[in-house]
Amino acid sequence: MGLSKDDVLRLARAVTLPSGARAPLDDQVEWASVCEGFFALKLHTPALSDPADRGVLAASCRAALAPAADRSGTPIQSLIIEFVDELGTTVQTVRFGSPTQSPAQTPPQTGRSAQTPSQSAPAGHPPQAPKHPGAADLSPLEVAGSIIAVGAGKGGVGKSTIALNLAVGLARHGKRVGLLDGDIYGPSLPTLLGLHTLEQEASEGRLQPFLAHGVRAITIGKLVERDRPLIWRGPMAHGAFKQLLDRTDWGQLDHLIIDLPPGTGDVPLTMAQVLKLSGAVIVCTPQRVAQDDAVRAAGMFKQLGIEVLGVVENMSFFVGDDAKVYDIFGRGGAEQMAQRLGVPFLGAVPITMALRANSDRGDPSANFDPGTPLAAALEGLVTQLENQVALASMRSGSSRPALSIS
Ligand code: ADP
Repeated sequence: MGLSKDDVLRLARAVTLPSGARAPLDDQVEWASVCEGFFALKLHTPALSDPADRGVLAASCRAALAPAADRSGTPIQSLIIEFVDELGTTVQTVRFGSPTQSPAQTPPQTGRSAQTPSQSAPAGHPPQAPKHPGAADLSPLEVAGSIIAVGAGKGGVGKSTIALNLAVGLARHGKRVGLLDGDIYGPSLPTLLGLHTLEQEASEGRLQPFLAHGVRAITIGKLVERDRPLIWRGPMAHGAFKQLLDRTDWGQLDHLIIDLPPGTGDVPLTMAQVLKLSGAVIVCTPQRVAQDDAVRAAGMFKQLGIEVLGVVENMSFFVGDDAKVYDIFGRGGAEQMAQRLGVPFLGAVPITMALRANSDRGDPSANFDPGTPLAAALEGLVTQLENQVALASMRSGSSRPALSIS
């Protein structure tokens, strides 16, 4: 039968804090998920600043869950415990395998600054996309490890910005990342990645992706005239999207991120038919109207058999020069929506002038300059996404999503 999410929450909330703070965890357990032996907990424990104390607490949580899980008939195969700060940014992750394994810890994060030389290089084309042995025989998409769609209920909520920054963040974690601008009605990657002065190259009938900020990117915005309105009927939209996917020389990828058009149109349908997706991320601003549209987007992914890996609350809050936090749009709305939908909340990104300015000048790497709330928020998102992708792939195996429309 296995433990339910409520069982996990109840057991975790009763765990006692270490270091003399003998109180139970209670509402410091922010979130729990459980699926067939795979458990995840999110803890916000402001009193515990010492990583060693957090490690002790994580071990206590496992000790509380493991016997109950054993008794339920579904023992722990994997338990991921994340410690987050007040912005929802991950500060430490502790992972346990089955009870015989010792925990693996990621160090507390203070913002990554490590870059491969290519990540800081200006945009250009790689000399040649690296191929793994036998890749020539495969569709490039079959080589991708995980495929993640980024969607939104409405335009202007920062979907493309988040898709790009997730891609750059994953690349900064050493992953080989492709980014497909599937927003064929309003492609914004040429601006966001600073591609305007570059020409789209093709070799042997295949499009060569641009290499920018560590990401292999392709966009229809580089195949049509700039400033020309892009009007696609259903079959044309299907064809354009499929050609971008199939005709690109992606090379070997760990992640392919797809920036979808806003709303619920033809492209997501095509995508679900032709791709084996790991899941979707929904970007939403906190306001009620944005939430309503995001709920519709979540419904669309459900109909298409695509798991929602999580919700991102963009433009969540604003930190003024006076260091005061202003909840301009009503911070927390998207997180509440995620809770209502029963899907993970990946994190909140503040409104910042830096993000807008870096986007306008095509320099997303600058968003990750360590020590800023923006970098911390983006790092948190990337880590959360990696965790959710890992959980989703463990849960699902890798079956092609069934298309069922009712
Ligand atoms: P969408 O893809 O949802 O239409 P975009 O990603 O193109 O939206 O973003 C719309 C505009 O908002 C862009 O100018 C972008 O730079 C800006 N923007 C997005 N997110 C933020 C943010 N958190 N802070 C400041 N500006 C943002």
